[in-house]
Amino acid sequence: MPSTLSRYEDVMNGTPTPKNASQRQIGGNKRLPRVSKTSVAKVKRELWEVCRKIVFFLYGNDCYTCDATNLQGSNRQCGHLPWPKSILPSLMKYDIRLLRTQCGRCNIWLSGNQVEGYKRMVEEIGQIEMDKLDAERRKVIPASIIDWLNRLEEYKKLLEKCV
Ligand SMILES: [Zn+2]
Repeated sequence: MPSTLSRYEDVMNGTPTPKNASQRQIGGNKRLPRVSKTSVAKVKRELWEVCRKIVFFLYGNDCYTCDATNLQGSNRQCGHLPWPKSILPSLMKYDIRLLRTQCGRCNIWLSGNQVEGYKRMVEEIGQIEMDKLDAERRKVIPASIIDWLNRLEEYKKLLEKCV
């Protein structure tokens, strides 16, 4: 059985193959396979790992929102800033523009330490860019599997440059 990702490539190339080819022949199901929630979940998992690597490369091992430095292991976290994950549209939950290195205290105990995060992000990217992000996150645009795959490909390419 081909790997999940190669099936995605097939879908993207316009030649989708059923998840279980033999079953399809026996069952005679002519409908195109739908991408299961599990598959999207797999892409998200991989995408999250890629996001983390890029964010740690770009922002290092010091907490973005406090003075904690040289974060290691489970205390080096990838936090959503300046808005919590729960209020972001799905694709923006996996968007390196809204992710920063954080310590466990800021990310979990202080629920992101977002006031400080907002302040530092304005210093980093400027108010105009922040306002653009704010407007963007208020638009809830449903993401298709193609959107997820495009994001994954885009970030994988970006990660290759992170050396
Ligand atoms: Zn911190």
